[in-house]
Amino acid sequence: MKDIVALCKRRGFVFAASDIYGGLNGFWDFGPLGVELKNNLRDLWWKAMVITPPIGPDGNPVEIVGIDSAIIQNPKTWEASGHVGGFSDPMVDCRETKKRYRADHLVVLKNDTDKWPAFFEDVEDTDIEKRLKKLGLAQDLTGYERHNLTEPDILAALDKVIGPDVDKAGTLTEPQQFNLMFHTFVGATANEDNKAYLRPETAQGIFLNFKNVVDSTRVRVPFGIAQIGKAFRNEVTPRNFIFRSREFEQMEMEWFCRAEEAKMWQEFWFEERAHWWKSIGLSSANLQMRPHESDELAHYAKEGLGTSDIEYKFPFTDPDFGELEGIAHRCDFDLTQHQKFSGQKMDYLDPVAQERFTPHVIEPAAGLTRGVLALICEAYTVDESRPSGVYLNFHPSVAPKKAAILPLTAKEEHVPLAQKLYLELREEFPVDLDIKQNIGKRYARQDEIGTPYCFTIDNDTIADQTVTVRDRNTMAQERIHMDKVADYLREKMKR
Ligand code: ATP
Repeated sequence: MKDIVALCKRRGFVFAASDIYGGLNGFWDFGPLGVELKNNLRDLWWKAMVITPPIGPDGNPVEIVGIDSAIIQNPKTWEASGHVGGFSDPMVDCRETKKRYRADHLVVLKNDTDKWPAFFEDVEDTDIEKRLKKLGLAQDLTGYERHNLTEPDILAALDKVIGPDVDKAGTLTEPQQFNLMFHTFVGATANEDNKAYLRPETAQGIFLNFKNVVDSTRVRVPFGIAQIGKAFRNEVTPRNFIFRSREFEQMEMEWFCRAEEAKMWQEFWFEERAHWWKSIGLSSANLQMRPHESDELAHYAKEGLGTSDIEYKFPFTDPDFGELEGIAHRCDFDLTQHQKFSGQKMDYLDPVAQERFTPHVIEPAAGLTRGVLALICEAYTVDESRPSGVYLNFHPSVAPKKAAILPLTAKEEHVPLAQKLYLELREEFPVDLDIKQNIGKRYARQDEIGTPYCFTIDNDTIADQTVTVRDRNTMAQERIHMDKVADYLREKMKR
């Protein structure tokens, strides 16, 4: 992971936000290549959902429209949705270091001594061994087992647990619930009446607009409303690079259907979404489909079919997996709650059956920021045999640059032809024109940023208008006519 983070900074994918001021924990900026990669993922999702939605069970394309709602909504929204009352994580504070930890992310190592050092569940064994040594405890982990601390565990063991950053037991407080929503004040006065929240999920903006969409378009249940945008969560322990940050982007779609069809649609969306992640380059071996355990169910899903997650094997979760997308059955919870809190009717009148009902919702909710991380982790390929030592194996459809145009030398005859090709291609594809340095160095740079194809202009180009295409993964080269380059790339973008 350290190497991946270093490459992201070196080549301009992701920077720490406010870097010159020492950063701000949980906030990240996307650089010139990162923003292209993120936009590609965003656009592919939008296309798969809104522009070319999948073919439904009846053989016709399903119906999905998009919206873009405000980040700050009337605060009643978050009372109705349950976020003011219930969007919280159990936390313990360390009295000594004043650091705060997610109680449900702490593990203890159990052996037969009465000392129970506590660690984060994703800390590497080698780091734990170092720590144990420093504490004068075991030299290796033989005989120890990791156990997740549930809240009752913590309460029972508080005086024995040694917090992750101290060397004596008993510094952790009892777990307390901590609300994850950021708040602000709307207008000139900063009092409780003006308090508003930054949205912790994009979904509620969709529910608030359910009636507007039904009344202003021709959609009929079953149909979906999709939205991509920023969400904010004051995560207790932001960690693992951009995996868990405090400002991130989500791609969510709320699928409104009849209660009796919810199971069928949940299975449908689960398959569609898994298929989509594979189509943009995530390998089956790194993906896992996992239904939630009953004790993980969200407040809105208690009554329904639950949630199934699509998980990815990130380097820091390996051999385990981390959530990439959840496909939840939200029942009619949100529309019913908004009807109750707003006093407005949120039900649906079926124009054919002349029957009123409140639709159930299946929600495929994916992380755009987390998706970018999965794409980078998947693409990162070590190859000692090439000058860069590493290349990013992006699928051409997500690669930030689709091709580089490289005149073999900076000679007068090569450069104008390269420029001509570059100007033609850039109308359709993001491409690089790179003239300086020797060709090996230029290939190495393109390998490291994951450009799938390099087109080289040389003396033969002058003679017969052919260029060399170099394939990033195989490094194999072939010659094609300059007129065929755009067709060649178009073909390669297909998934
Ligand atoms: P987690 O269990 O990891 O906290 P969650 O179950 O709370 O996630 P959801 O509320 O279902 O997440 O949000 C949908 C998606 O948004 C997640 O699958 C994930 O990809 C993304 N996401 C959620 N929280 C964060 C975060 N703090 N940073 C980056 N992405 C996030």
